[in-house]
Amino acid sequence: MPVEGVFYRRARLRWLMVLIVLLAIAPMFALHLSRVQSSREALLQQAHQQATSLAEGGVRAQQQIADHARQLTEVLARVPSIRNASQGECDEVLTSVLGDGRAWLTAIFVFDSAGRGLCGTSPAARSLDISDRGYFHEAIATGKFAMSELIVSRVTGNPIIAGALPVARPGTGTFAVIGLGIALPWVEQVAKEAGAKYSGILIVTDRSGNVIAYRPQSPDGWKREELRDHPLIGRIAQGNASVFEAADPTGTDRVFGVARMPGSGIAVAVGFNRSEVLNPIEESIRYDLILLLAVAAVSIGIALLAAEFGLLRGVRALKDAALRLKAGKIGLRVKLPSFVAGELHDLAATYNAMTAEFERLAYLDRLTGLPNRRYLERHLSRRDERGQRTLPGRQAVLAIDIDGFKPVNDGYGHAVGDRVLTTIARRIASVVDERGHFFRVGGDEFVVIAPLTKAQGREIARQFAEEIRQALDQVIELDELTFPIACSIGIAMVPDDAKTLTGALEIADAALYEAKRGGRNRVVDMAPTLVPDNTDAEDYSADVHKLRA
Ligand code: GH3
Ligand code: MG
Repeated sequence: MPVEGVFYRRARLRWLMVLIVLLAIAPMFALHLSRVQSSREALLQQAHQQATSLAEGGVRAQQQIADHARQLTEVLARVPSIRNASQGECDEVLTSVLGDGRAWLTAIFVFDSAGRGLCGTSPAARSLDISDRGYFHEAIATGKFAMSELIVSRVTGNPIIAGALPVARPGTGTFAVIGLGIALPWVEQVAKEAGAKYSGILIVTDRSGNVIAYRPQSPDGWKREELRDHPLIGRIAQGNASVFEAADPTGTDRVFGVARMPGSGIAVAVGFNRSEVLNPIEESIRYDLILLLAVAAVSIGIALLAAEFGLLRGVRALKDAALRLKAGKIGLRVKLPSFVAGELHDLAATYNAMTAEFERLAYLDRLTGLPNRRYLERHLSRRDERGQRTLPGRQAVLAIDIDGFKPVNDGYGHAVGDRVLTTIARRIASVVDERGHFFRVGGDEFVVIAPLTKAQGREIARQFAEEIRQALDQVIELDELTFPIACSIGIAMVPDDAKTLTGALEIADAALYEAKRGGRNRVVDMAPTLVPDNTDAEDYSADVHKLRA
C-alpha cells in the first residue's frame, strides 16, 4: 500500500513538528499552572487571614462584653437595695442602670438562692424561675460570675446569653443572684464587614454547638436545631482548626477563619465565598489560557507551514523523482523550490549527480566512450517523433561493421581485441569529426548519422562513407603487432529512402548486409525507394557532450 505508506510518512513528519511545538510550549503551560497554583494559595491564605482577623474582632468584642457584664454585676452587688432586693427600690435602680444605654444589656434581675425572681427591669421579674438554668447553678457552686450558653429569654423570647453573680445577703445567711441578659451588638457589625468582603457569612456558636448567630441569615428553612447537626457547625464549635475550607449548609464553598473565646466556649467564624476570593485569579487564568492557546495555535500553524514549505515539498519532489527513476526515466533531474531546507537541496544535488551517473552508465559505451545502442534508439525515437516539425534537410545513415574482427579476439585475446576496437573507434571518430553523430551499437558495429543540407545529394554521403572505409583499410599497429582491418558500410538517406531515421537505419543495415555479401571492405548505397520527407537536425553533440561531462 504505497499510497498509505506515503501518507503515513507525511503525517508523521507533520505531527513530529506539532509535537516539537507542543514540547516547546509545555514548559510555558507548566509554569503558568504553577504560578496560578501559588497565586491561588496566596489568595486563599490572605482570605483566611482576613476572615480570622474579623472573627478575632468579634471575640474581642464578646470578651469585652463579658468583662463589662461581670464588672457590672460586681458593681450592682455592692448596692444594698439590689443585694437585698428591696421592694420597689431594687426595680428602680436596675431600670435606671439599664436605661444608661449599654447596647449589650437587655435586662437585669435579682433572684433568690432558689432561683426565683425577686426584682428586675421588667414586671415579669417576680414570676421568673431560673432554678433549671445551668449558669445559675454554676454561679452558686463557684461563687463567681458565670455565663450561660445561648438561651431563649423567658422575658422577651429572644435568644440571649445570661450572666449571673451570687452575692451574700448580710444577716440572712442566704444569698441573692444578680442576673443579666446579654445581647451581642458586635455581631451585626462583624457580619456587615464580613458580608462586604467576598459575601462573607458570620456564624457564632456556643460550647454545646448551638448557633448563637448566623448572618446574614440562616439558610432557608433551617432551624437552629438542624444547623446544630450540620458538620460545619460541629467544626466551628468543637474543632480546633482556626482556618479551613468547607461548604456551608447551602452548599457554597467557603473559606473560614475561626476565633474562639477562651473559657467561654464561644466560637466566632467568618466564612468568605471561595469562588469570590478566587475570582480575580480565575479571570486571569481564563485570559492567560486563551493567550496560551492562541500562541500554541499560531506556533503549530507556523510549524506546519514550515514543515510543508521547508521539508514536505522537497521530500515529495525527491520521492516523485525517485519513483520516476524507478519507472526507468533516468534522464530527469529533480528541481526543488528555493525555500526548501538546504539539506534537501544538498540531497537533490546528490540525487541529480546520481541520475547523471546512471545516464552515463546507461547511454555511453564503456570501452570507447561513444553513445551506445540504447542512446541511438532514444535518439532515433526522439528525432522521429519530432518528424516534419523540425528543420528541413537530408540525413545520411551509415551502418558500419568491422570485417574479420573475430580472429583478432581469437588470435590475441579479448584485451588486445578491445585495444584494436578502441583504435578503430578513434579512427572513425576522426573522420566523422563534426560532420555527423557517431554511435557504437554492438561488438564491432557502429552507426554514423550525418545531417546534410537539402542541396547535398547522396553522392556526398557516399564520399563520406568511402572516407571512413579508407581510414580503416589501413593496418593497425599495436605493440609490434599488425592487424589488417577493414570495414563494410551500408548507406540510407532520409527522406530519400525512408521517412524516419529508424526506417533509414533498417535500410542501411540491409545495405551493410549486401556489402558483406558482396565481399566486404566496401560501401553499399541502396537506391532511393520511398517518398521524400523532412526531419530535423539533432541535439546529438550537446547531448553526448553532456553525458560525457
Ligand atoms: P564479419 O566480417 O562477418 O563482420 O565477421 P567478424 O569477424 O567481424 O565477426 P562478427 O562481426 O560477426 O562478430 C564481432 C565479434 O566481435 C564477435 C565478438 O567476439 C567480438 N566482440 C564483440 N564485442 C567485443 C568487445 O567489446 N571487445 C572485443 N575484444 N571483442 C568484441
Ligand atoms: Mg564484424
